[in-house]
Amino acid sequence: MHWNDLVFHPGNEELQRFVELGILAARLEIPLHFHVEGMRGTGKTTLIRAARGRLPGIARIAGCLYNCRPDSPHCPQHRFGAETAGTETVPMPFLEISHSAKVGTVAGSIDLARLTAPDNPSAAVLPGTLPRSHRGIVFVDEINRLADTSPALVDVLLDAMGTKPGRVQIEEIGLPAVEIPLLAGVWAASNPDEEPGPLQEIRKQLADRFDFCVRIERPVHPDTVRSIIKAGNGGAVNRLQRPPQHFLNLEALRLDSRVEEFLGEIYVRFNLESIRGIQAARLGAMLHAAWQGREKAGFQDLVAVLPAALRHRLEPQKMPEVLAVLNNVAGELRREAARPAVKDSHGREPVENRRYPALWRGLFKRMAGLAAKSDGQKSEAANAVNQPRQALEEEEKKKRAAEAVLAGKGGVDR
Ligand SMILES: [Zn+2]
Repeated sequence: MHWNDLVFHPGNEELQRFVELGILAARLEIPLHFHVEGMRGTGKTTLIRAARGRLPGIARIAGCLYNCRPDSPHCPQHRFGAETAGTETVPMPFLEISHSAKVGTVAGSIDLARLTAPDNPSAAVLPGTLPRSHRGIVFVDEINRLADTSPALVDVLLDAMGTKPGRVQIEEIGLPAVEIPLLAGVWAASNPDEEPGPLQEIRKQLADRFDFCVRIERPVHPDTVRSIIKAGNGGAVNRLQRPPQHFLNLEALRLDSRVEEFLGEIYVRFNLESIRGIQAARLGAMLHAAWQGREKAGFQDLVAVLPAALRHRLEPQKMPEVLAVLNNVAGELRREAARPAVKDSHGREPVENRRYPALWRGLFKRMAGLAAKSDGQKSEAANAVNQPRQALEEEEKKKRAAEAVLAGKGGVDR
């Protein structure tokens, strides 16, 4: 189905947003990985596959199955300066891995055609789905089934998604192992209600590799259902409102420093196991701003991506707390933006209002206090209020480390 013929409704709005961000990330050659969970019949795979028709072309060394960039080739053949046959433009790759795939077809295997060529037999590697999706997208449907039945394939995916860029290792008996960098967004889908259950329960480590966990729900309004039926019969549907021209200058993209501080606060307060959630929220907010045609990402962008960045990393009962504080701060900032700017004693407009960190710290504490009262036990955040000085210093240290990572000074944990 063509993207323009899809019917968008509140139930699939989040997936629509992440497909847009995924396409934008692929154009910027940033690997963005998301996993959409939803029941059968919600149209998740239809929506994802419809994105294929919206992908731009990429320029590569003519005939290179690894999609080598003409200016910085990476494949085993071209990175050592093999002669090329010029360049060509091909559609951005959108390849699929099924749950019954084999390591050889996903990573790569020996090229039998070249090995048995009658005139000049030679041993060479044939790239699999992952290396061929370089600078594009690879889609894994029913990823929970794949995780359940193919531990070897999960290891290949963990490698491909562990760092940005990722890596693929092609191993064949009798040939030296080949390791190549990979810039590909992994998009996946599953139905957590069907066998073998949610991915997070099968391979938590693989679930954490996804920057975002997206939800899709059935349409609840009868009008939406009528539109979907009409669209299926070629009828007119609600056209998607196109955002302004994509802002594609990555260097100019910025993030409001208060968003950085807020994310550091969440990491510490909610004791997140993995820093990946915070890194994903940061990247997602910036891409969201770019998608909306803005250079600077702020709280309205964080609101759009934070639930999907934390859903698979935070205990479900804590999610409403985070979102309540976030919405509170975003609302306060909206009200502030609507007020005429207050000038300081020198007649200058304030660059940034610094009182918000204090505002959300207070909110976090109050909520933690309420939660502790309601269930009769003190939550960790509530204890933090009465912690001795030493513990508070520890917390401050942890937060500074988190902020260093956010500022891009730290590496990705593997
Ligand atoms: Zn190449």
